Amino acid sequence: MKRFVYADNAATTPVSREVTEAMAPCFETVWGNPSSLHQKGREAKVVLDDARLRIANVFHCTPKEIFFTSCGSESDNWAIKGAAHRMKKKGRDEIVTTAIEHHAVLHTCEALEREGFKVTYVGVDADGVVKMDELRAAVTEKTAIVAVMYANNEIGTIEPIREICDIAHAKGALMFTDAVQAVGNLEIDLSKLPVDMLSLSGHKIHAPKGIGMLFIRKGVVIDNLIDGGGQERGKRGGTENLPYIVGLAKALEVAEEKMADNERVARLRDRLIDGLTKIPHSRLHGHRTQRLPGNVNVGFECVEGESMLLWLDLAGICVSTGSACSSDSLEPSHVLIAIGIPHEKAHGSLRISISHETTDEDVDYILETIPPIVEKLRNMSPLWEDLQKKEQNA
Ligand code: PLP
Repeated sequence: MKRFVYADNAATTPVSREVTEAMAPCFETVWGNPSSLHQKGREAKVVLDDARLRIANVFHCTPKEIFFTSCGSESDNWAIKGAAHRMKKKGRDEIVTTAIEHHAVLHTCEALEREGFKVTYVGVDADGVVKMDELRAAVTEKTAIVAVMYANNEIGTIEPIREICDIAHAKGALMFTDAVQAVGNLEIDLSKLPVDMLSLSGHKIHAPKGIGMLFIRKGVVIDNLIDGGGQERGKRGGTENLPYIVGLAKALEVAEEKMADNERVARLRDRLIDGLTKIPHSRLHGHRTQRLPGNVNVGFECVEGESMLLWLDLAGICVSTGSACSSDSLEPSHVLIAIGIPHEKAHGSLRISISHETTDEDVDYILETIPPIVEKLRNMSPLWEDLQKKEQNA
């Protein structure tokens, strides 16, 4: 029987009831401007400070190290451009990043290249893990910032961030990690993980779209993002988005509680991986174990990812393809290309990203629905016919 299964949580998540309930008073009663000195302002300031403190508690950092932004992309841009411009004054004009970063990082680096910065895009192995020897060779005394994502948004591979921090710091460079996909899915303790900066985005963890955060460790100085009224310690001006900040604090706390359910989610993920890779001429993309608990990315030869996506949509299942993050791009994913998947095969991949809301029945339904769709599409494909002939003649 047809069901509705949302399995595109890496793209965005629904706002949870806990979050909307936590936000409601900020629309109804606590609507003051936290900078106002009167009672409505003071009331809002108390709520703002409380949210910042609760977030600091989740990450084991201090409230002064938390800066609210509007999204993950803004945080990524600020971290990298702010650090690059500041470090250039110290003669450091090189950036080291990886070939599999989100476009919020890659396009930021390209913009800095146009300004004259030298950017090295370190490669990854077939599982999507950063090549540490290449990274070590790329980081020099001229490196301003090393930017490596915590976990990849397409293939789910988790990167060795701790080790990368040590490499960056040994050369005096700053270390930034885009943790947009990791936050809420992996435990991150900033009292132990020595990153200088870390970005996250609310809408990936059941908070609304329009709220992000950048952690900037005490003592790390980067250029301001928005000059304005002194909000966010003078670094990112603009009246604080109090309802969404409160929503983010709640979402992070709920995510921390639900971390206990990660093993169940990872079991569902593994059922999906095992089931889907039984389909002939399919392969898992990303690391088998060192991957996000909810991420499945499988390629099917001789099938267009977009066609599969549309058939799955008709069956009530929401997933995405490997064709970049934006559905309006039919370019093969730069991440799949970086792990060595040839162009024609990179087009036939699906990313299924499940969550704590996913059930065994949802997984059963996905596993029942995908194989006949793959078969139907292959039966219409001349490439599949050629492949079958080649196999018969082999
Ligand atoms: N970084 C990663 C790894 C992402 O997956 C995303 C969104 O998909 C972003 C950054 C951008 O976040 P936002 O949509 O909040 O701008």
